[in-house]
Amino acid sequence: MKKISTLLIGTNNKGKLKEIKELLPKRIKIYSTKDFKIKSPIENGKTFEENSNIKSKYFSKKTNLVCLADDSGLEIDILDKAPGIYSARWGGKNSDFKKAIRRVYKELNKKDKNWKKKKIKARFICSLSIHYLEKKIACVRGKVEGKISKEPKGDNGFGYDPIFIPNGKKLTFGEIYPRIKYRIDHRFNAFKKIKKFL
Ligand code: IMP
Repeated sequence: MKKISTLLIGTNNKGKLKEIKELLPKRIKIYSTKDFKIKSPIENGKTFEENSNIKSKYFSKKTNLVCLADDSGLEIDILDKAPGIYSARWGGKNSDFKKAIRRVYKELNKKDKNWKKKKIKARFICSLSIHYLEKKIACVRGKVEGKISKEPKGDNGFGYDPIFIPNGKKLTFGEIYPRIKYRIDHRFNAFKKIKKFL
């Protein structure tokens, strides 16, 4: 298979763009949606995979470039896997992650007043997909299992990082050095599976 030399990263999220860029081989010339000033499409899929494919296909067709896009989010078991595909939307129009985190704690308190005494199982999921125009080249899923912290901790990363403690660690993703997070998280695990298509 011919190796890809130019790739568009189909995200308008700065945190994700930075992380994905670090994972890609240096030989690939990378463009971001900012270079083309394209707005994001409506994500009306029912799964991470569907939303990821919506984005990679849409941005590829807008630019004529091969596009890698992701859809990701946090699943919390006792909240019936919420926020899930609505993870970004819990932050509201301005992607206010503090607001999204407040909502998580509010929902946990509603569900179980004693949740802080329990292990609240959660995981980050990431679906990565590659499209070239209408053609789907690949679509994979990666995850990282963990639990919800009793309070937000740390300023690193973005989104729900301050409240997620990966299994085997005592610190939240917000406290762990980004270069360490990048090597264990859901995006990295998905990336390992999609690497061979690049
Ligand atoms: P989307 O994939 O752009 O629809 O949004 C995914 C949302 O999930 C982000 O806006 C974050 O709120 C959350 N999320 C995804 N990956 C991470 C991560 O690595 N750390 C923290 N939050 C994340």
